[in-house]
Formats: sequence, structure tokens, C-alpha cells
Amino acid sequence: MICSCGLTSRQNCQEIFESILAKEYSDFRYAKVHRLTVDAYCLQHPEIYMISPKSFAAHLTGMCCAMAYGNDPHLRRILQQWLNGKKQLEKPPMLTSFGSLTISHVTNAKDGAEHAKLINEWAVEVWKAYAVYHDLAKSLIETARRECIAK
Ligand SMILES: [Zn+2]
Repeated sequence: MICSCGLTSRQNCQEIFESILAKEYSDFRYAKVHRLTVDAYCLQHPEIYMISPKSFAAHLTGMCCAMAYGNDPHLRRILQQWLNGKKQLEKPPMLTSFGSLTISHVTNAKDGAEHAKLINEWAVEVWKAYAVYHDLAKSLIETARRECIAK
């Protein structure tokens, strides 16, 4: 079965993802980009990881925070808090193509620094593929900020 990300095997794609996660869990030099790895992978596999509107919002805003807000830790906390609450969110139609890079782009990293660089290159491509939802991401972030300040 062809994978949604473009790799020729869904199973192979999952195996690569799991081996990358294992590296990130066991080595702090790889762990720094863990959040971005998960967001990029989930955004490329919406039929598995973004079934609920909330999971879509979580990965879309997570990626947006990394790409457009310099990974601001304060914003991260706001988003986390916001997503923990009960939400009436809608999920727009999912994309069918997800950029020219897949997780296979990062498999040959020699060290943590190269790993981070490759994950970033991959994530930039995924974020570009989601251009149609950049405004939605920013408006969700504004909503999160408003609602968390109001509390
Ligand atoms: Zn895949």
C-alpha cells in the first residue's frame, strides 16, 4: 500500500518513523526536534494521526508555532493549555499531497545537529504544502491566546 506521504510502502514509512522516534527518545542530541518530527509526520498522515478536529488543530498550530513564531515556549504553553480544554473545533478537508520530502529524508543523519537540520528541511516542505491552512493556523493561535488570557 502506498503511503499518503508519497513513500511506496505504508509499513516501511511507519518503521522509519518508529526508528527515528527511538533515536529521539534515547539521545538528547536528537530529542530537541522531537516535537517538530511528530507534527511533520502527523501532518503528512492525517488519515492516521489527525482523525479528530482537536488533533488536527494541535499539529497544525504546533507546526505553525515552530515555523512562524520561533518555537516560542510561552506560546507552546498557551496552546497546550488551550487544547486541554473542551473545544468545538471544525476540521477542514484534508490535503492529498504533502510536499516533496518524506521522513526518509532524515534517516542518514550522522549526528544530532544534522538530524535537526534534516528534520527542519522536511518540516519546511510540509509547512509549505499546508499553505492553504496557514491563515487558519494563525487564527487558531489568536483564539488560543485570547481564550487563555480571558481565563
Ligand atoms: Zn508515510
